Amino acid sequence: MNTKFKLENLIRTNLKTLTPYSSARDEFSGTSSVFLDANENPFDNGVNRYPDPQQWELKERLSEIKNISAKQMILGNGSDEIIDLLMRAFCQPCEDKVIFCKPSYGMYKVAAQINDLRIAELELDANFQPNVEMILRDNDSKLLFLCSPNNPTGNLIDKKILIRLLSEFKGVIVLDEAYIDFSSDASMVTELNMYPNLVILQTLSKAWGMAGIRLGIGLASVEIIEVLNKIKPPYNVNTLTQNKAIELLSCEETYQEKIDILLVERNSMLNELRGLSFVKKVFPSQANFILVRVENANKLYDFLIKGGIVIRNRTTVALLENCLRISIGTPAENQQLLEVLKKFQNQ
Ligand SMILES: *Cc1c(COP(=O)(O)O)cnc(C)c1O
Repeated sequence: MNTKFKLENLIRTNLKTLTPYSSARDEFSGTSSVFLDANENPFDNGVNRYPDPQQWELKERLSEIKNISAKQMILGNGSDEIIDLLMRAFCQPCEDKVIFCKPSYGMYKVAAQINDLRIAELELDANFQPNVEMILRDNDSKLLFLCSPNNPTGNLIDKKILIRLLSEFKGVIVLDEAYIDFSSDASMVTELNMYPNLVILQTLSKAWGMAGIRLGIGLASVEIIEVLNKIKPPYNVNTLTQNKAIELLSCEETYQEKIDILLVERNSMLNELRGLSFVKKVFPSQANFILVRVENANKLYDFLIKGGIVIRNRTTVALLENCLRISIGTPAENQQLLEVLKKFQNQ
């Protein structure tokens, strides 16, 4: 039980008294057939009506899949929107501080900078684990961002470390599980109700294959979700996104089949990469990408570009000198990559 965490002390003062925007659809509940309340165009073309601001049908579907109440869910225009909402809910610009680790997902820092927040960026240790003592010594941060499996390193955060932080950190812990469906650990969703300071981020962009519709998922206590709902743009998830998500979420078998293929591909790519002479280190991966350290990252990156293949060069990132991040593609794409890598080796 975390005795230091008090939600009331973290919410921005100006939001405690805020009356949120009330849309036409918010003010009416029940059934009706004539809607003359929102200045919409009445002629049906499939998208002439405003979307459900709370996306209940989609949340109910996600609630079955993730086994958590729809009331503990907020959906956003990608996880990126939810990251921004969290910062705006809890952090006063120029005053409040957030912690994140490096190397990790770049959006935490950008969102913090846009919101003009103070930043504590703590380096991960040699095993890419967060430094618990250093984090807990920080007494005035409102938010801590953790990413597991971590992008771009591909490893999980040690469960013991997570539990210790959840039990002792004073602020809200945002655990980004964008890649959890590719990992051997289960999501922390099942333990959400034990930790009132935990916000879990998931997304339809990766394992579900819906990066194009922009649908991010935040999971937390009802109290935290209420704060975020109060400040979100009323129609932040559009009708096309809601409908497409409901449609594709019904294909759970296809989803699992694709994950299985990607995991087989990941293992064979790990082995293939280890066999290349210019590869110094292949980091183990719990995600749908692999981090590799090579002799000369810039040289290899340019060679691949000329061969028509784009990967992510991370050589300028702290701790990641000469490292490249490679997403797992289709079996054919991975073969194509290997051919170009072998050409590079033999040149
Ligand atoms: C890809 C990714 C996301 C997904 O962001 P969306 O805005 O939902 O597409 C979130 N977190 C991490 C660490 C990622 O790598």
